[in-house]
Amino acid sequence: MECFLNSKTELYAVIGDPISHSLSPDIHNRIYKRLKEDKAYLAMRIPPSELKASIDLLRNNFKGFNVTIPHKEAIIPYLDELDTTAEIYGAVNTVRVENGRLKGYNTDGYGFIMAMEAEGFKVEGKKVLLLGAGGAARVVAHELLNKGCHLTIANRSEEKRERLKAELLAHSSNKHIITCSPSELKEGYYCIVNTTPVGMAPLEQQLPLENLEILKASEVVFDLIYNPYKTLLLKAAEEAGCRVLNGFSMLYYQGIKAQEHWRGAVLPNKIAQEIFVELENMLK
Ligand code: NAP
Repeated sequence: MECFLNSKTELYAVIGDPISHSLSPDIHNRIYKRLKEDKAYLAMRIPPSELKASIDLLRNNFKGFNVTIPHKEAIIPYLDELDTTAEIYGAVNTVRVENGRLKGYNTDGYGFIMAMEAEGFKVEGKKVLLLGAGGAARVVAHELLNKGCHLTIANRSEEKRERLKAELLAHSSNKHIITCSPSELKEGYYCIVNTTPVGMAPLEQQLPLENLEILKASEVVFDLIYNPYKTLLLKAAEEAGCRVLNGFSMLYYQGIKAQEHWRGAVLPNKIAQEIFVELENMLK
């Protein structure tokens, strides 16, 4: 029997602005279709000025939603409860709606670690260079510090990189954090993670790193961007002999963890793996 949306269909969404590029509906609707569930996942553009006014609509009509740029921090005052992941990162990317209450989670850190582990990247205790000091950098930095990494944060604006360093030092027992401007960088990193949007439209012809010599001494380069599938940075890293990873698997695994929060159960691994391959082939 063919399945149509009806008044009982459970609704989920991703909210952000812009949102039309989002891959999240592709991930979640594939899961619902595969499990033959009467659920649907929408992409909803909510400009910052309309976030507050949208909360009750989400609360009354959705079972859960993802939150992306620019609302990950701004949504926090409207939530009833935060899980520890959201508290640690000071940002929310997943909300579960239960009996009219909104509980915020952050599954980006899980996505980052799962993506690294799935590729067999072992960063424990290694020197890692983080490019950028925004919301994604904060999550990635926490995870890398937990793994005992020695972190260098290179970011264009000094104020933001120093603020991130101070915040990390206040929360982590691993104090191995140094900061610098991207122009001051020299080689010596096992792993490089790009958390800036440099490499995606409209900056797809740019590199987040000036000194490409750094790549030659690195083993692993992870770009959080997944569109384009291979950024200029990843192409240069491959040429320099590094192993590379784009942001698709991080996005995918954060989505799988969001599903777990919404359904209160782990997705069958076989289905999760099959959809991963399906989407990866679509993006390549
Ligand atoms: P954000 O909070 O706005 O931070 C962006 C960072 O990039 C800032 O540190 C900013 O530096 C730097 N930056 C921006 N434009 C730059 C430029 N032209 N040159 C040099 N540095 C620049 O954004 P975010 O939430 O961290 O997201 C960053 C990227 O990660 C986006 O591409 C996003 O799509 C990606 N992301 C991917 C996933 C995934 O699952 N794959 C998850 C989250 C985020 P300044 O301080 O100097 O402005």
